[in-house]
Amino acid sequence: MKKLETWVTVPDTSDFSIYNLPFGIFSVKEGAPKAGIAIGEQIVDLAALADLGLLEVSGVYFRQSTLNDFIGLGKEITNKVRLDVQQLLILENSPLKNHPKVFVPQQDAKMHLPVHIGDYTDFYSSIEHATNVGKMFRDANNALLPNWKHLPVGYHGRASSIVVSGTDVRRPMGQILPKDQIEPVFQASGRLDFELEMGFIVGKRKRLGERISTKNAAEHIFGMVLFNDWSARDIQKWEYVPLGPFLGKSFASSMSPWVVTMEALEPFRVSGPEQDPKVLPYLEFEGEYNFDIQLQVGIQPKGTTEKVVSTSNFKFMYWNMLQQLAHHTVNGCNVNVGDVMASGTISGKDASSYGSMLEISWGGKKSVQMNDGSERRFLEDHDTVIMRGHAEKEGIRIGFGEVKGTILPST
Ligand code: MN
Repeated sequence: MKKLETWVTVPDTSDFSIYNLPFGIFSVKEGAPKAGIAIGEQIVDLAALADLGLLEVSGVYFRQSTLNDFIGLGKEITNKVRLDVQQLLILENSPLKNHPKVFVPQQDAKMHLPVHIGDYTDFYSSIEHATNVGKMFRDANNALLPNWKHLPVGYHGRASSIVVSGTDVRRPMGQILPKDQIEPVFQASGRLDFELEMGFIVGKRKRLGERISTKNAAEHIFGMVLFNDWSARDIQKWEYVPLGPFLGKSFASSMSPWVVTMEALEPFRVSGPEQDPKVLPYLEFEGEYNFDIQLQVGIQPKGTTEKVVSTSNFKFMYWNMLQQLAHHTVNGCNVNVGDVMASGTISGKDASSYGSMLEISWGGKKSVQMNDGSERRFLEDHDTVIMRGHAEKEGIRIGFGEVKGTILPST
């Protein structure tokens, strides 16, 4: 990779290096939300940059509360904006040096959801996760259902309850079937869980009746975020047969505020696991489209420090995003700019890489010790869950920052 140097101070461990430059929506004090790019501990105010005549895109696109219209301009334009900003941050005699007001400290900014999400789909694409759940909920000898290796299993999630990192999450109430009983009760979930996931944001629409092929799918993927798909396991277990997840999932999902572009992630492409049996032709793809992104989950109970409970990697995914998008549209289903498609829980082979408490505690049988000595099988009220992700190669690092949320007691 070509070495780039910026004149902006960027700590070595920053996720927001000159190679990254993710897009997000921020506001300062009482100001309206607008678009920015993260660099180090700063945000470049794109509206201000456009007003200075330094971008080829009108400031109108950046003075909005979501990135949808900007993303809708197409990759040719969005990439150019990112590369123009990169140049301005590299140039020794950059005109930005005379305009310090273009920079906003991240600590002074409030972050918002980066896109208006019309639709949200959640896949189930980690073979380790699907196998673990199959062993616990069904049959240890036939953990994967017969369809699993033939198609990327998914379901339509709830877009309305996706919240930005930092938003508190209320423990849901619901129907639960107590152990060894035949009648359900209505109570607060006692098995509240996180799911370590990544999501991609659709960057180009596809009309109803048309398909996206694996060959063209990359054009439709704008960028990625970290995604915590909160789950209430006891509600889920009772409700999910035969149509799948419903209220055990729809109470909240959290996403990180900075959208890392696929162009920034390009150097971190790797090959995925071998797919055996061979997939149907519409799911075949060329090249490598898994990504080496190191992931981590921590739990911070109230009044103590964070304990890391999982270390995983996005490269473990059995099904890749090209296949997910091709499968999603193979029946003619349309997709729109801003739609979010999440990976499903990302677990690795090793127990230290399991992406949910369901797996870490093996259905509640094992506990994990927190730094204050308390134990967790599932999440407790006032626990904060923090997920992080970054990619690193040849000394170059880009990352996603974090997605976090604190559990509030049910009401
Ligand atoms: Mn999920």
